[in-house]
Amino acid sequence: MAIAARDTKMNDPNRFAPLVDSLESGLSSIFGFESFRIGQRDVMEATLQGVNSLVVMPTGSGKSLCFQLPACASDGITLVISPLIALMKDQVDALTSKGIPATFINSSIGAREQSDRLFGMEAGAYKIVYVAPERFRSERFCDAIANVKIAFLAIDEAHCISQWGHDFRPDYLRLAEIRAQLGHPTTIALTATATSQVQRDILAQLNLPEAEIFVYGFERPNLFFEVYDARSKGDKIGRIVSLVNEHSGDPAIIYCATRKQVEEVAQELDSEGLSVGLYHGGMTDSQREQVQNDFMTGMFTLLVATNAFGMGVDKSDVRVIAHYNIPGSIEAYYQEAGRAGRDGLDSHCLMLFNYADKGIHDFFNEQTYPSKETVERIWEVLSKMGLGTHNIGSRQLADKLNRNKRGKGRLNSWGVESAMRQLQRGGHIDFGTRDGFDWIAVQDFARTRDLRVDWDYLKRRRDVNDDLLGDVMRLASGRECRQGYLLRYFNSAPSFTNGCGNCDICCGMPEYAKACLLYTSDA
Ligand code: ADP
Ligand code: MG
Repeated sequence: MAIAARDTKMNDPNRFAPLVDSLESGLSSIFGFESFRIGQRDVMEATLQGVNSLVVMPTGSGKSLCFQLPACASDGITLVISPLIALMKDQVDALTSKGIPATFINSSIGAREQSDRLFGMEAGAYKIVYVAPERFRSERFCDAIANVKIAFLAIDEAHCISQWGHDFRPDYLRLAEIRAQLGHPTTIALTATATSQVQRDILAQLNLPEAEIFVYGFERPNLFFEVYDARSKGDKIGRIVSLVNEHSGDPAIIYCATRKQVEEVAQELDSEGLSVGLYHGGMTDSQREQVQNDFMTGMFTLLVATNAFGMGVDKSDVRVIAHYNIPGSIEAYYQEAGRAGRDGLDSHCLMLFNYADKGIHDFFNEQTYPSKETVERIWEVLSKMGLGTHNIGSRQLADKLNRNKRGKGRLNSWGVESAMRQLQRGGHIDFGTRDGFDWIAVQDFARTRDLRVDWDYLKRRRDVNDDLLGDVMRLASGRECRQGYLLRYFNSAPSFTNGCGNCDICCGMPEYAKACLLYTSDA
């Protein structure tokens, strides 16, 4: 990839000078945007005045601009910490296409290129540099960053620092220390998803107790929220079919919790005469790309998908988002449901609720964060195999463990692999795949009671997920205004006082929302 900063025009320091006087002019001349979105200007002013902040705005609402424009208006570089290596390139490409010298430094690029970029950074060739927090483990990077002037530190996806959040990354815990190492630059932490508890925790972990918190943009008055108590699968399909028919021809996404359910639901809808596409993580990249393109271009309008679908998808006219199963957290729910009606037109978010679906998430949670008993059981089998490398993978190991076991005690390969990862972290085993064959290497003789596994951590993660699911259960089984509940969850003050007037609860809980929509439009 060409480094934009090598272009001399872009190195001209005067290019960004007018910005200091007017953020508006920079907004149009650099970014080509007409106006600020809600909150952006306030955040930028705070940042430029050296005020540390936490910005909570939904996905797609334009958080990046909050640090990108101040970055352009200031001397030195803005260092952006992001956990998602896969998304850094897109962000940097978007900036360089606007003529802003930006780059990322991560493990996806070769050593030579990394070194070039570090020199570029030291030579002042970039305004914005994206890195993952792990980058600070590299001495060469720390040396280089020590030589540059930092304008701002932006911490994207800041909820990753909180163990109470849904996406904790241990590497984020080092950010307070990293910030100190950088000389306490003005910091802007950003997230789409933070309860008030997580918001407090982010600032505590970053050691920024005095930071200003900005929460914007969670209110979505054009979205109608409905929770439908479904008695059975057939009941769920029936409700989806009637809703989709009401919006016939308009784009709709049906989210399911598992790949298997995506396939089942797609089949059911197909047999109801609806033409559907399906999307999940078990499909090949090219299949998924094809489906996504066909959906974006309107080849079909009804898509059944797991939560693998949606990241970075920018389709503004989705009229219906239905959740066939309850999601695992309000964060996930609002992100997925929030993909409806981006164009501001009336759209419908339906959550199908059946208490039994809670079990799916409980199962996910147990598989991802295995219990002490499970890890110990697996260690006992592995340690009996003896030191050295064995040609076995998580699937065969699960089969071995499941012999003579029925029902709840059974493990699947996913759960076994999660447990193996804990043993790997403790240095007891290593595992991988070579030439298509799985292998596990047993590396020590530890007694079961001496295993170096962070049991408290596993338990805490399970508890956090239980709590997040509990909040979804409260939304689904509760009888309060849906939008009000969601806004309170994000610590965002609603503009209404007596309910949003646009949800199943506010509209008197009709059996079907259609009656309700008629009722509201008459009023
Ligand atoms: P977030 O990080 O909050 O999910 P992004 O920063 O990625 O959102 O922005 C989402 C999209 O909105 C991007 O394509 C961005 O260019 C665009 N955008 C941001 N601010 C504005 C604005 N003021 N006017 C028009 N488009 C904007
Ligand atoms: Mg973002």
